[in-house]
Amino acid sequence: MPPSGTRFTTLVDKLKLRGYRITPQRAAILKIFTESQDHPSVDQVYAAVKVDFPMTSLATVYKTVALLKEEGEILELGFANQSSRYDGNKPYPHPHLICVRCQRIIDPELNRLDGLSRELALKYGYQILNQRVDFFGVCPECLARQVSEAVSAG
Ligand SMILES: [Zn+2]
Ligand SMILES: [Zn+2]
Repeated sequence: MPPSGTRFTTLVDKLKLRGYRITPQRAAILKIFTESQDHPSVDQVYAAVKVDFPMTSLATVYKTVALLKEEGEILELGFANQSSRYDGNKPYPHPHLICVRCQRIIDPELNRLDGLSRELALKYGYQILNQRVDFFGVCPECLARQVSEAVSAG
């Protein structure tokens, strides 16, 4: 695995090569998407970028997401009951572990999915193009909070 931090610089270089103009605002947005470990939503990225660039518009964040999607450089996780979340580190399909309480999303280490795709392709004759594997649960922090709340209530 390449050391963290290089994803941002390689992405910027790649986009520049493809003819995109990388303004300081856009660079800041790319940095947040590539360095965040928590699969931020557009609103979260917008709030974060405004700390350094108060003039940034929400539209600029949306446009950057659209560009990254077009270039296949970001993974969008859409949900029925909450806004989409994004992985700018790993733009390829990978499993996610999602806390239904605090909405935290992490990337669990699971290496068996490639095998599963092959198995499905063989068994059902499909050419597998994409995959989406989400595990929903309650994270350790939320579980701990639940226990301490129960103790203080009882
Ligand atoms: Zn949680
Ligand atoms: Zn992810």
